[in-house]
Amino acid sequence: MSTTTDAPVTAAEVAYYQMVINGERVEAHSGARFDTLDPYAQKAWASAPDAGASDVDAAVAAARAALSGPWGAMTGFQRAVLMRRLGDLIARDADTLAVLETRDSGKLLREMSGQLSYIPQWFYYYSGLADKLEGSAIPSDKPNFFAYTRHEPLGVVAAIVPWNSPLLLLAWKLAPALAAGCTFVVKPSDHTPITAIALAALVEEAGFPPGVFNVITGYGPATGQALAAHPDVDKVAFTGSTTTGISVAHAAADHLSRVTLELGGKSAQLVFPDADIDAAANGVIAGVFAASGQTCMAGARLLVHRSVHDELVAKVVARAETITLGNPADPATEMGPMANAPQFEKVTGMLAAARKEGATIATGGGPDSGLGGFFIRPTVLTGVAPTSEIVCEEVFGPVLTVLPFDTEDEAIALANASRYGLAGSVWTKDIHRGHRVAHRLRAGTVWINAYRTVGPNVPFGGLKYSGVGRENGIDAVYEYTETKSIWVELTGDTRDPFTLG
Ligand code: NAD
Repeated sequence: MSTTTDAPVTAAEVAYYQMVINGERVEAHSGARFDTLDPYAQKAWASAPDAGASDVDAAVAAARAALSGPWGAMTGFQRAVLMRRLGDLIARDADTLAVLETRDSGKLLREMSGQLSYIPQWFYYYSGLADKLEGSAIPSDKPNFFAYTRHEPLGVVAAIVPWNSPLLLLAWKLAPALAAGCTFVVKPSDHTPITAIALAALVEEAGFPPGVFNVITGYGPATGQALAAHPDVDKVAFTGSTTTGISVAHAAADHLSRVTLELGGKSAQLVFPDADIDAAANGVIAGVFAASGQTCMAGARLLVHRSVHDELVAKVVARAETITLGNPADPATEMGPMANAPQFEKVTGMLAAARKEGATIATGGGPDSGLGGFFIRPTVLTGVAPTSEIVCEEVFGPVLTVLPFDTEDEAIALANASRYGLAGSVWTKDIHRGHRVAHRLRAGTVWINAYRTVGPNVPFGGLKYSGVGRENGIDAVYEYTETKSIWVELTGDTRDPFTLG
């Protein structure tokens, strides 16, 4: 067993990581630890502390104290310098971090390398906003007053993030929070706790003062629960499932902490008869089989005009059957395993229920018998009922359901008949229809003739049960500030103390 936080790992070792609180590497007060599994190798590869409530208290206290230290005194210009440095350091270490993410999550190395080399852009983009958080000078309705506003840091941010894109989804919160001048405590998923700890070393190297960025790790829901419920947290920035998000919102409401929630989805891809069918087939594959379908924005519901239904399904099935499953670290692999046992069991359970309900399996349908482990075959289901669980609920796996439609109105009604509203796409060569349908879809993001594209400067988030608030884009930085109004009396005159001024 190696004993330093950032030690290189060989296959025979279980790497030993510690939490980072106030710039110190620490164990949980209880001394408890848990192992994290490599889902491809199916064995423990690293371990991390199992934090309890007193550890959460320590992390929040460190973040609170850092607000009154050198960090709190910095100008936006100074914060921006540190943020750009952090972006540079992530770019420098992108390959190493990508390997850690792949080991922890089983996601393709090529996908994680792509994400890691893109993450610096979040720090560069938001560094450009750190020095532009301008308030306004407001013309007063009273001749003896002047009023202005300031965008002040919200305070201590608690981030709770999932296992499917651990560092990317952390960066979506950390970059605007740092730009705003907040301090941060992150609780990564117990399936992928390691890269947040690795990031802490880069935050320190970039020169951020201790306590600005703290990492606590824990097994099961208890650590996240304690963090969401902590009375000294000013904002909870959560990404994860809808069920957990609702419980996080309840916990945060008890102390009136601000909340943003990025939750589940069941996004629709609408294919019209005039679409480029090859491009649409490729987009459908990208939407639901990339990352083994383990993305919140997965385009898991294909709605296709009846006249091109058979042609499109045949193309999607043909490509699905050539998808290469295997070692996520192998550049030739196109789909890795499910990231963990509960996820594997959830997907196989939902597929079994769909089969029982009479769904037609056009391809796939269950685990890969050759590879074993957590591998699921890319699956396409036709003949599904619009109200069935497999159509309505998030699978978070490589499972596409297909429903035909006859009219544009019917397609939109089917797309919107979901409790989720995260994303969707429209495939058509008709520019009028593309925009018209995009406007009518009840989703936070719609792509026209594309799928699964995001950027630091374009807002992302959900409607309905897919979440509250937006990440990315200029406005997201204001999710981490409070507006303060300041009134200045200009004359020095004495006023009547018993009237509203
Ligand atoms: P999850 O809800 O099980 O866990 C998310 C995080 O919350 C983890 O860190 C977990 O340890 C923690 N947690 C669990 N129970 C908690 C509780 N009661 N209180 C506080 N924290 C708790 O989700 P997951 O399985 O890790 O991730 C998959 C889900 O995330 C999917 O539903 C997916 O759609 C969603 N997701 C959404 C987006 C988005 O941007 N909308 C992005 C990625 C993933």
